[in-house]
Amino acid sequence: MENISQTPFELIDELEHEQVVYCSNKETGLKAIIGIHNTSLGPALGGTRMWNYANDKEALLDVLRLSRGMTYKAAVAGLNLGGGKAVIIGDSRTQKSEQLFRAFGRFVEGLSGRYITAEDVGTNVKDMEYIMMETRHVTGIPEEVGGSGDPSPVTAYGTYVGMKACAHDVYGSDSLEGKKVVVQGAGGNVGKHLCKFLHKEGAKIYVSDMFEEKLKPIVAECNATVVGMDEVYGIDADIFSPAALGAILNDETIPQLKVKIVAGAANNQLKNENVHGQMLKDRGILYAPDYAINSGGLINVYTELEGYNRERAMKKASSIYDIVANIINISKAENIPPHVASAKIAMDRINNVSNAKKIRVYRDMNLFKMRNS
Ligand code: NAD
Repeated sequence: MENISQTPFELIDELEHEQVVYCSNKETGLKAIIGIHNTSLGPALGGTRMWNYANDKEALLDVLRLSRGMTYKAAVAGLNLGGGKAVIIGDSRTQKSEQLFRAFGRFVEGLSGRYITAEDVGTNVKDMEYIMMETRHVTGIPEEVGGSGDPSPVTAYGTYVGMKACAHDVYGSDSLEGKKVVVQGAGGNVGKHLCKFLHKEGAKIYVSDMFEEKLKPIVAECNATVVGMDEVYGIDADIFSPAALGAILNDETIPQLKVKIVAGAANNQLKNENVHGQMLKDRGILYAPDYAINSGGLINVYTELEGYNRERAMKKASSIYDIVANIINISKAENIPPHVASAKIAMDRINNVSNAKKIRVYRDMNLFKMRNS
């Protein structure tokens, strides 16, 4: 597995990136890295993270891992997008400026559409507006300027339908009526919308959040029961839905789980992909791979590239039901954990589409020149 002691080219070779772009501009203070992992299916899309990395190597490793993750996410979601991501090295509370983001935007523009950016941890709508002054290759912009706005309702809807696909496999029916569902981070953007879908279907909801006051409206609207932050793992329920942090499925938490299904929107839920994905399978718990079930957010921005319409985005996100069902089927047929099945589906699609693209299309062929040469 890749690690910080490897040289940049060793890392790029190991994670199989197409292109890594270092962007530096002394005058504006910009230090950024753009990772383009794979563009077989389409332009590499992924957000720009601004983070105070301890050193350049840590930033490189992060952008390489995140951009590779986007390749799998787009591929499994059936989108015509590749995987990319960018990191800006700096403190997002003190080092932001118009010139910094405009300089970054010019580097994005220089890639002529091979990379499309969006918001991520440490960046916001205002920053995207500055980037947009220099390039068209930005997505996830506000509704007022023709964008798709907040992706959370679409992410929540995709998570909800993905959860139903899991229920169908485990309980023989995709109805969530009467099912006990624990939502971690229910006060957040995705969590609160997810609770509304679950409540409408008659699920019994348990909620936790680091900031308990955020739960008050959900308790009132969805008749939810508040549980403590450390209690979530051991609740006697049917489904656990992480919608807060990463790495929460680990050696300490998995043995506590009493649920039959883990299906939630949080990114990077498995602390160690292979170890903890297998551990869940061994315990007979069905895990819906996070990047597949939470791909509603990506589907939302993809819809923006086609001219945004919320109804169409929701309709597209409903395909997450079939995507998750297919992952479960392959996982069972091949006796592999769902996260391995999901990666296989993604890689197969990339390889198959790459094969189809080997058929050359000569749009600009000049017959006159060829006949006379
Ligand atoms: P958010 O910040 O709005 O919500 C997260 C919530 O979790 C917050 O209310 C926070 O107080 C709470 N929280 C943090 N630590 C906690 C803990 N230990 N226990 C309980 N609650 C805790 O974020 P979000 O946009 O709702 O995203 C939630 C997760 O889903 C993140 O992992 C995010 O990366 C992922 N995700 C979000 C989207 C989207 O469209 N917003 C898309 C894909 C993936």
